[in-house]
Amino acid sequence: METLSSTVPGPVISSQPLDRAVYDATYKASIDDPDTFWADHARRIDWIVPFKTVRSVNFHYPDVAIEWFADGTLNVSANCIDRHLAERGDQTAILFEPDSPDEAAQAITYRDLHGRVCRFANVLKALGVTRGDRVVLYLPMIPEAAVAMLACARIGAIHSVVFAGFSPDALANRVDDCGAKVVVTADGAPRGGRVTNLKDNVNRALNHAAVDPQVLVVKRTGQQVAWYEGRDHWLHEMEATVPADCPPEEIGAEDPLFILYTSGSTGKPKGVVHTSGGYLVWASITHETVFDYRQGDVFWCTADVGWVTGHSYIVYGPLANGATTLMFEGVPTYPDAGRFWAVCEKHGVNQFYTAPTAIRALMGQGEEIVAKYDLSSLRILGTVGEPINPEAWNWYDRVIGTGRCPIVDTWWQTETGGHLITPIPGQIETKPGSATLPFYGVRPVVLEPSTGALVEGNPAEGVLCIADSWPGQMRTVWGDHQRFMDTYFQQYPGTYFTGDGCRRDEDGYYWITGRVDDVINVSGHRMGTAEVESALVAHEKVAEAAVVGFPHPIKGQGIYAYVTLMQGVEPTDALRKELSDFVRAEIGPIAKPDLIQWAPGLPKTRSGKIMRRILRKIAEDAPGELGDTSTLADPAVVDDLVSHRMNRG
Ligand code: ATP
Ligand code: MG
Repeated sequence: METLSSTVPGPVISSQPLDRAVYDATYKASIDDPDTFWADHARRIDWIVPFKTVRSVNFHYPDVAIEWFADGTLNVSANCIDRHLAERGDQTAILFEPDSPDEAAQAITYRDLHGRVCRFANVLKALGVTRGDRVVLYLPMIPEAAVAMLACARIGAIHSVVFAGFSPDALANRVDDCGAKVVVTADGAPRGGRVTNLKDNVNRALNHAAVDPQVLVVKRTGQQVAWYEGRDHWLHEMEATVPADCPPEEIGAEDPLFILYTSGSTGKPKGVVHTSGGYLVWASITHETVFDYRQGDVFWCTADVGWVTGHSYIVYGPLANGATTLMFEGVPTYPDAGRFWAVCEKHGVNQFYTAPTAIRALMGQGEEIVAKYDLSSLRILGTVGEPINPEAWNWYDRVIGTGRCPIVDTWWQTETGGHLITPIPGQIETKPGSATLPFYGVRPVVLEPSTGALVEGNPAEGVLCIADSWPGQMRTVWGDHQRFMDTYFQQYPGTYFTGDGCRRDEDGYYWITGRVDDVINVSGHRMGTAEVESALVAHEKVAEAAVVGFPHPIKGQGIYAYVTLMQGVEPTDALRKELSDFVRAEIGPIAKPDLIQWAPGLPKTRSGKIMRRILRKIAEDAPGELGDTSTLADPAVVDDLVSHRMNRG
């Protein structure tokens, strides 16, 4: 395979002190001449047949079509494994930390990984899987999850990872939607000291699925499982019968690499399709640049591989870059709330990447538990998934980073494949709560929500759209290109509509204000729910808050706040008033909540995002219209909130 990457310099990585000029110059080059910029940077990965055409993009409804490097060919798994063997075959590729701290961690080298992926790919072939077939992965956070993804990539099969916390129903829907030929699972999934019977879930899902896939089972716990002869196969048994080597297939840059369903915060999950060449370039360049990844660093992204964050920043980005990536099977609170910090200390983690929901939860546990661990190896801290309120940002910075680690608040989506708006360490100064500036090649625009008119100059406020394509962009919704165009390209012609609202400040920094659907209009003032929530969480007695609008006879919309109090705080009417006054003092009279409901828990997706559309329906007193709740982490929370809804008087 031809290796071009050594002849072209990698991305610009500046060291301290902060040099904004590097960002400005690189960004300008990427926008002025995207063809040249991406032709250069795409050579950070190895191509079998180098591309001649960089891009072909049509953002205009109803003819939307997006291609990058379309006449090039490559193999993603060879990029993530084979090309590293000569130089760092004995370096750890995947560092596996099991759920139980008593079970030994595993260090899987690039050479080990090569062997395991080849065998796995040959098992898939033996099951009849060929190029273009879909393989659903329903696995714990174990190395086999990454191995299975890479094995699919090696033979040109399309994987669709389904989070192992999803129910049999949710699994069946996804198996059917993509028409899976094989489902890969494990006997059981240890998590937080408990075991989920994954194989049982698969059995139940396939009982009522329309398609009839083969099932490949990884032995993780050794527990008893119900077995269907002829359909079910043990991975270890099949591996013993297949050849050790599996040469990587030559894959077109625009051939699909994976399908991943969105988390469902705003409605029915969409089967997002990512292709091979552009996606890998994007995952690789953002991983190296945004996390300032340097050879030898230990990188830890705490997401599950069931989310896009796990795809891009546990598997594809780090491995394409020859990194050591940590995979953690457990949860932040097992065996106690110090686990994240224990793992950071144990493995000398250099970059740590997690979600605001985890930071807020750990913040509630106090600082003493953090102080027990040596976190001096940490160099960069990252966050993703929701707007991070300045309170949590500052805690992360002060308590975890001790003020010396740049914080990268990375805004992006399943659809975008990787970071779009984010600080770059050494290049962009941060502000708590702001995702700061666009990554190279990304052209954000702020539009007036009702007319779609471009809001020029700073400050600006409106809906966030992206004016041009970037290599990591999704290409279609699986089996439904019309839905792709309708969702992202119809409302604001000529641009990609993100669904998020934002503010751009005097310095051109972007502040994500939440979903556009979540913007409230109080007496003609538009307000992002994130802002009011931030103010509430800044109060010392508040652990978490979610804010939605509800119909109000005078103001148009009123502000309804769901508040989770800190452990041990008494919910009283006096406290309600105290919180309202607090928000009023923080933001202004217009932001004062009309109603505050005490919420022992908030409805969240399995990835930890608050589902405001459900809270909105409860506030509107329309509990019959909750919509798709199949991705909720704990449905019981909803019943409690419905039965304690505040009377609007
Ligand atoms: P669905 O599209 O099915 O409703 P989802 O949008 O929750 O699900 P994801 O693609 O996982 O699925 O989430 C992307 C969204 O997460 C973004 O559109 C944005 O609202 C939010 N988000 C992610 N990172 C950030 C961040 N750093 N700051 C603010 N919001 C963020
Ligand atoms: Mg979304």
